[in-house]
Amino acid sequence: MRAKTVVISGAGIAGPTLAYWLADRGFEPTLVERAPQVRSGGYIIDFWGAGYDVAEKMGLLPEIHREGYDVGELRLVDAHGRRVGGFSADVFQRLTNGRYVSIARSELARLLFGKIEGRCEIIFGDSVTRITPDRDGVSVAFEKAAERRFDLAIGADGLHSRVRELVFGAEDTFETYLGYMVGAFQAEGYGPREDLVYVSYTIPGKQVARFAMRGDRTMFFFILAADEPVNVGAHDMAAQRKLLHTEFDEAGWESSPILRVLDSSDDLYFDRVSQIHMDAWSKGRVALVGDAAYCASLLAGQGSALAMVGAYVLAGELGRSPDDPEAAFARYERLMRPFIAKKQKAAVRFAASFAPRTRFGVWFRNQITSVFGIPFIAQLFIGPDLLDRIDVPDYTRPENQA
Ligand SMILES: Cc1cc2nc3c(=O)[nH]c(=O)nc-3n(C[C@H](O)[C@H](O)[C@H](O)COP(=O)(O)OP(=O)(O)OC[C@H]3O[C@@H](n4cnc5c(N)ncnc54)[C@H](O)[C@@H]3O)c2cc1C
Repeated sequence: MRAKTVVISGAGIAGPTLAYWLADRGFEPTLVERAPQVRSGGYIIDFWGAGYDVAEKMGLLPEIHREGYDVGELRLVDAHGRRVGGFSADVFQRLTNGRYVSIARSELARLLFGKIEGRCEIIFGDSVTRITPDRDGVSVAFEKAAERRFDLAIGADGLHSRVRELVFGAEDTFETYLGYMVGAFQAEGYGPREDLVYVSYTIPGKQVARFAMRGDRTMFFFILAADEPVNVGAHDMAAQRKLLHTEFDEAGWESSPILRVLDSSDDLYFDRVSQIHMDAWSKGRVALVGDAAYCASLLAGQGSALAMVGAYVLAGELGRSPDDPEAAFARYERLMRPFIAKKQKAAVRFAASFAPRTRFGVWFRNQITSVFGIPFIAQLFIGPDLLDRIDVPDYTRPENQA
């Protein structure tokens, strides 16, 4: 029988994970990525839970731990760099039985990509422009490549998904803005640096943070509270830099030297912090996965792990009924939805603690974090949100296959 063909838009985190598991299940995936290569940039992400389990099934844990970091401490500092709060990251290790690691988003993307390179068709520098589904498949038009037929189309193209817009409707129908803008970039040669310490400075409505990486590199992160999304072009790095200068030039601590480093860097990830809520993640032969379907927001810290779990479940369910994709999409959604709903709720609670909007809020957050060293307090405040309550089937077992 002919292998089912699947076009996947987006080679971020969900896309390569899905391609890997679809190929494993006997499908023929084609990945289309708008960027000319796997996108670098972004910040460090925390990686644990059900996503960590999927990475383990892909044999990626040794590499993820090698490229990742066992962060030792989250240190909250004042304008003079003095410690005013924070906690030892042991608390995360303890709550997850040591199955926890921090890794640059770009590294995770690169490792996932390495798993599919040479195993499936990958088209860089192109984008889908039209998807026309019919009873037997989908006709897909591209910006550059000629129109092609596939059995299925999947949108794994992130928060601002093109597939979602083409098939399900305009972005603002599904997006809930959470009141923050974020910027992240990496640069070489910055000092001061403290190994394995995440150093973060907050004033009402603003946070600047840095984390020292290997090879004399440092990752920087800005969060800005804004009632309305700030309107700078998605690809207009000059305007994004200017905005960060306006907001942070006078903010104190290391803001000025960090902004100077930004000026000579050509790397900046800048976006609004939003969630995606949809009534359905599929329509006929088209489905969405990862941020495109259910973005929990950047501040959830778990977007990549959620993207990987969704991709694994979606591929697994398609593998169980390759001739009935609609039933597979329905099972995927039934399994994932309650889990995602909880994560999205937790992300909203969590977002406010990143950049409290008042002086009292900042002070209160600092005090709370200072007592996280006491196990039952940490368990009380972070335990429930940290644990992943989802029974992910093991699709590698024969009883979970077609
Ligand atoms: C450059 C970058 C930096 C990020 N930095 C952080 C961070 O610091 N912290 C954090 O928590 N999260 C960050 N994120 C978001 C985080 O990666 C996602 O929440 C999570 O990984 C979910 O993965 P995803 O695969 O669903 O989406 P993403 O990882 O966002 O991947 C989507 C992919 O689709 C591609 N794409 C978009 N539109 C099209 C199109 N029309 N055609 C083809 N391809 C398209 C994008 O280029 C991207 O490669 C970042 C995302 C990107 C793209």
